Amino acid sequence: MTVRPIVISGEPVLHRRADAVEVIDDGIRRLVADMFETMDAAHGVGLAAPQIGVGLRIFTWGMANDDGVPERGVLINPYVTASKPAPGRPDPDEEAEGCLSVPGESFPLRRGEIAQVTGQDLDGREVAFTATGWFARCMQHEYDHLGGFLYLDRLDDRSSRRARRAVKAAGWGTPGHSWMPGVDPDPFGHDDDDGHDHESHDHEAHAHHHHPHEHDL
Ligand SMILES: [Zn+2]
Repeated sequence: MTVRPIVISGEPVLHRRADAVEVIDDGIRRLVADMFETMDAAHGVGLAAPQIGVGLRIFTWGMANDDGVPERGVLINPYVTASKPAPGRPDPDEEAEGCLSVPGESFPLRRGEIAQVTGQDLDGREVAFTATGWFARCMQHEYDHLGGFLYLDRLDDRSSRRARRAVKAAGWGTPGHSWMPGVDPDPFGHDDDDGHDHESHDHEAHAHHHHPHEHDL
């Protein structure tokens, strides 16, 4: 298993529809093992294959839930539909979302509370479940990746302007940017949370300390 670099907004594979997996072979099994390894090294709770530069319809998660679904899992060729988001503006604390492909940033986004999820597991068996709350958010976020959308594409006008400025200021939004989990300082400041002692301290990451409800997908 190998930790792979996570590509950043602007990389074309993040902005186009991913292709269906035709056969679950050793190559796919290796890819999924690498996805779990990369997600864990990045302290993410979800990862879609395009985020490691592979345009295939696969995502993984590692997230406790109230829905009776295993805390860690993978879906091949998934299909996700969600309930309509409640009206009103998203709460900047309770509904702030982050993405490993927009490292260090987070913006509020309202999502549907309930998601219906289907797909195949790594053995090709059909899987179906209902996800609620933050797990439903995770499913919607990862499924969006397979359609070529980032959560930035769904923000309201005000957050969208802020996000565009942040992406521009970071020098992203063009191909070729990536970061390496476990090597580069953790962009979301998890280095502090889990007590890992990294030599270089990223003060940016400290400034972006996360609310406990916030998850990086
Ligand atoms: Zn993401």
